[in-house]
Amino acid sequence: MSGVRFEFATATRVVFGPGSLAELGPIAASFGSRALLVTGRSAERAEAARERLLAEGVASIAFSVIGEPTVGDARRGADLARSEGVDLVVACGGGSAIDAGKAVAALLGNGADPLHYLEVVGRGQPIALPSAPFVAIPTTAGTGSEVTRNAVLSSPEHRVKASLRSPLMLPRAAIVDPDLLLGLPPHVVAASGLDALAQLVEPFVSVRANPLVDALCREGLARSARSLRRAFEGDRSEAVRVDLALASLFGGLALANAGLGAVHGLAAPVGGLFDAPHGSACAALLPAVLRVNLAALSRRRPESPAFDRYREIAAIVTGRPDAQAQDGVAWVESLVRALRVPGLSHWGASTSDVPALVAKARAASSMKGNPIELDEAELAEIVSASL
Ligand SMILES: [Zn+2]
Repeated sequence: MSGVRFEFATATRVVFGPGSLAELGPIAASFGSRALLVTGRSAERAEAARERLLAEGVASIAFSVIGEPTVGDARRGADLARSEGVDLVVACGGGSAIDAGKAVAALLGNGADPLHYLEVVGRGQPIALPSAPFVAIPTTAGTGSEVTRNAVLSSPEHRVKASLRSPLMLPRAAIVDPDLLLGLPPHVVAASGLDALAQLVEPFVSVRANPLVDALCREGLARSARSLRRAFEGDRSEAVRVDLALASLFGGLALANAGLGAVHGLAAPVGGLFDAPHGSACAALLPAVLRVNLAALSRRRPESPAFDRYREIAAIVTGRPDAQAQDGVAWVESLVRALRVPGLSHWGASTSDVPALVAKARAASSMKGNPIELDEAELAEIVSASL
């Protein structure tokens, strides 16, 4: 075994706590006086943010993104930001709004069109210059995008999703306020919360795991396990909201520094080919990925350290120290059922799409973190079981 060596990078500043949205004004004012305020479909959810900005003399120019951001959205946002002369970008919303804001901030700082930098469908040129100052404020508890270095954009004409990615894209500040989760509807709690759970499981079993990420995953898994089902059932107590917000934040910190696995490797092409929201796709895939990963490890790498990881996950989520890996899988399966996550067929996927999804997933960057390389038959089994 070689010695432990790792790097850890995140947002310059993370401000966490109920009521922490109040910090937005002073933080934004330290960066400039004109902000592009990026939101999702419901711009009124960012009204409190707009007021905080105004109170500190920061004007805001509204930019709303419907659904997950496209290359065209990023281009449009950057054009608007340039013509309005903004000096910072604030995103307030779910992962879509934050990814859109992160992409716009990077384009503002670097100048060229999104396709110049985009992986897979674009030229994949490196992002060489710092982003415009970017402040991320999540209003769901799922993606952890407020502390990651990539922005996922979809390219509808290519039917794929791809990332703009650079350490220079890490937000200057992440404001994580659990009070913003108060009005979250149950289906959003389910999809985003299970995405967060997947983002705690995958880095923990990743081939790139490290001790700092391990600690975050253990803590995040415990909080998600005790609070996600309660939140879905309607409990919006502060303790539950804090748990969800921390699980999401820790998942983001973990994935940005230890990578992901087959859930996210498959979720990317699912989201490219179908209109499945990221969290819902991840939630639908998670149980089968756990099952097939364990079976593949048993067949080909029975000595893998990942078994201990899966056992530890099982112990954390079930609360039973003697739990076996399969108990963890059963626990996740029952949670996904209880949270009424639809299968991939709900979004239009069918058996005939399995080969295309498998082919694209094998090339996905997230797949590299998976604890074992899955063959085509194993990936096909996952997709078929997740329909
Ligand atoms: Zn995810």
